[in-house]
Amino acid sequence: MADSQWLPRIAADLCNGCGECIQQCPTGALGWQNGKAALVQPDRCTYSANCERVCPVGAIDLPYLIVKSLGATQYDHH
Ligand code: SF4
Repeated sequence: MADSQWLPRIAADLCNGCGECIQQCPTGALGWQNGKAALVQPDRCTYSANCERVCPVGAIDLPYLIVKSLGATQYDHH
């Protein structure tokens, strides 16, 4: 999948199953898989980054935010 690097990655070994990210996802892209959060509807993901912000254990990784923090690439949306 060409766009896969732009989707959130959830580390199942870090996820504690709190459900915060699933509740905060505006498009319903996240859901449960074996008691852990997972990107169950990747086509719905609009990259709001809500999930990354609300996760209490840092289990969610959004690749473009990492790129931004390194200053490697400029994006004109905020
Ligand atoms: S917010 Fe983090 S710890 Fe909670 S369900 Fe989502 S990935 Fe798991």
